[in-house]
Amino acid sequence: MAGLKKALRDRHVHPANAVVLLPYAQLMQRARKAWAAHGAGAQDGQHAETAVFVPRFETTMNWASSLGGRLGPFVPTGTDLQMDVAVDTLTAASLLHKAGLGNQQDVLASRLVEAAWSLARVAAAVPPGDRVAWGERLAPLLSADLESPALAREAALGRIALAWAATSSYPTDRLFEARPVFLAVLEGFQQEPLGTALQVCSADAAVSIALDAAMPGDRPAPPRPAMHRALDAEDEAGRAAACVLAHLAQGRSPVALIAQDRLLTRRVGAMLGERGVAMRDETGWKLSTTRAAATVMGLLRAMPWDAPADAVLDWLKNAVSAPGFAPAAVDAAETELREYGVRLWRDLPQAPVPALERAQLVARAVDAVRSALARARPLPVWLRDLRGALQSSGQWDALALDGAGQVVQSVLRLHEGAEAEFESAPTMTLVAFTSWVHQALEAGTFTPVQPNEAQVVILPLAQLLGRPMQAVVLPGCDEIRLPVSPEPSGPWTPAQRELLGLPSRQSLAKAQRQAWAYALRHAHVDVLWRASEAGERLVPSGFVQEILLDHVITFAPDPRLPRAVPARPTPRPLPTGDALPVTRLSASAYEDLRRCPYRFFALRQLRLQAPDELESELGKRDFGNWLHSLLKIFHDILKTAAAQDIPARVAMINIAAERATQELALSESEFLPFAAIWPRVREGYLAWLAEHEATGAVFDVGEASLSMPLGRLTLIGKIDRMDRQSDGHALLIDYKTEPRSTTAERIKSGQEDTQLAFYAALIEDDTLAAAYVNLGEKEPTKTYTQPDIVGLRDELIEGIRDDMERLEQGAALPALGEGKACDYCAARGLCRKDFWK
Ligand code: SF4
Repeated sequence: MAGLKKALRDRHVHPANAVVLLPYAQLMQRARKAWAAHGAGAQDGQHAETAVFVPRFETTMNWASSLGGRLGPFVPTGTDLQMDVAVDTLTAASLLHKAGLGNQQDVLASRLVEAAWSLARVAAAVPPGDRVAWGERLAPLLSADLESPALAREAALGRIALAWAATSSYPTDRLFEARPVFLAVLEGFQQEPLGTALQVCSADAAVSIALDAAMPGDRPAPPRPAMHRALDAEDEAGRAAACVLAHLAQGRSPVALIAQDRLLTRRVGAMLGERGVAMRDETGWKLSTTRAAATVMGLLRAMPWDAPADAVLDWLKNAVSAPGFAPAAVDAAETELREYGVRLWRDLPQAPVPALERAQLVARAVDAVRSALARARPLPVWLRDLRGALQSSGQWDALALDGAGQVVQSVLRLHEGAEAEFESAPTMTLVAFTSWVHQALEAGTFTPVQPNEAQVVILPLAQLLGRPMQAVVLPGCDEIRLPVSPEPSGPWTPAQRELLGLPSRQSLAKAQRQAWAYALRHAHVDVLWRASEAGERLVPSGFVQEILLDHVITFAPDPRLPRAVPARPTPRPLPTGDALPVTRLSASAYEDLRRCPYRFFALRQLRLQAPDELESELGKRDFGNWLHSLLKIFHDILKTAAAQDIPARVAMINIAAERATQELALSESEFLPFAAIWPRVREGYLAWLAEHEATGAVFDVGEASLSMPLGRLTLIGKIDRMDRQSDGHALLIDYKTEPRSTTAERIKSGQEDTQLAFYAALIEDDTLAAAYVNLGEKEPTKTYTQPDIVGLRDELIEGIRDDMERLEQGAALPALGEGKACDYCAARGLCRKDFWK
């Protein structure tokens, strides 16, 4: 302010006739206060005048819009760059089309927008009358180092971006006509091209004042920053929040929290919010990260013809207030879809299926919306129809009531009549429209309601300049988030940057260094970085390394205060299950009871089973299911065809494999890993079958569902296969796709292994035999016969009787928490094994 006042006095300019340009809008209020404070203590007449008359403190955008009253608001026309992704992406597509690159517009449009945006600041600083000539002069020079045919596309993109920026009008163009009596430009860490151009226009009636040199350097040298080396991002966020709280506790307010890393800043913000700290966020949130944006994208992701059932369910769960989408109906539909294994929504059968009754009911309302949004149409019609879909699914009102939702509605022009802005836009497919919406939401910003008086201000490093902060907390000071030499934005080469007047890498590095040095001039500064990320070591920023090299640094102690918390371990659960009578028992349920009674109680009696995933990668278990299924089909065919020679059997088993693939609805890509091992498994199985048949055994039935009463209980099970041996006795077979040693262990462990004995209990036959058949992937298929299966069966039945009797009498069902049983147990979150004493 002293420099400004001197400049006015030297030129005999009255303060009210001066315009002072500031590097960013948040300084306007601060500058007015500083001017008033500077004049308030004045004694002479000149100073008294200073206190009463205030110059116009403006940013270029603010100044331009304040001239709107006289000249009317700025209205972009034609292909003007608008710095609005929703509009500029469409303009970029049409420019590419005109340039003969229409067939690549999906890939190139966003890159063209990025290139043109990076030029907007320099183009806006060229007086409007000279701008086209400026573009024409630079265009031939721009491609000078891109002559190779391989770079032809880059050269074309650059030329189109330059022509676009050079032929555009900008809201600040009217400033070239404004000609104030006196113009002062307060410079930030980087020169603003427009401010410099306006200064040139104003010649002697302008002055530039570097803010960095003016503030706050006249203080005594500050102590060194407190250096915090955190273990990882979570540790860093916790320490940063604690640093802020410590400053506030010392009465230092406001505290600047520098936003170098959006995720980390949101985490710190959430911790401070919990403590009731009033914060003002000057960086805003990416619109795409708000719930409102997710609502719109959720609807669009559920629309493609090949949408996963999970995507449709996700949308329905957000559309709960719409008719037909009631929560109970959606939950019931989800259960059916998961049990039936409908992975793609289009696979839901049209013909009535009893097991999908409620899903099919919900599908009627869903398919009405999906079919309405299937075909290509012009953008305004898309916007109207999207609005209709949001209304019919009950999501529109929620958007209108939400702050971020209102921004989403206006960014996407979803309000009634707003779509007219895109009247001339071309026809788009659903994919192109979804991509347009996605890009507009990615580029949009949402700023939540801010408190008037903030204890903490979240801001970028460069915006610290000139702010009255009592302390600075600087997390994210690692080599990735705070590089000493930042990467310039845009697709330009260093030579092109120089030609276009864009800041060079060196000037960006200089500005970054100035901003860093300025932050360290504050009296209380905390510098934080993390030593590792995603398991990799992370090096601190070069700026931090300079301090560590130049000084003997003692790291700051952890600012988090330890609290003594009494240990409250969870006791082991010890329920009784007599109130939940068991009437049906399968082999796997009984296995649960034997391994851990609590697991049986939770998963079988309370039936707290996790629903099946609809979208999951196929694994070993799926391979097993596929093999089981194809072997049943193969033997059913073989039973009628009775083919003996190997080639005929190979053809038959291949047909069975195809049918099993279809029945399990496996796509070609999902089947690929199976296809790689299938020939080996097939040869091994057919060889085993020939040997097995040579003993006189004959296939009888596959996948037979059987039951057997046992007192009040019914034993149930599905047997993989039953054969007749040469003497007519039954042979129970269970297929295994596990390592051979595991199958061998089952046989050795006798009573420990209950599976074959349980299956034997489902048949009234005291002469039967039972075996596991290991379907080898690398080794030949092999039979493992269980000797004395009848004796084991009888012992098992006795055991079941005893166990059920004790259960009915209210015996405790403890969580045993031992051995391998717990490793993959679905009830681990219920028994709380990890929190026991
Ligand atoms: S995690 Fe272990 S103790 Fe807990 S229910 Fe499962 S098997 Fe039992």
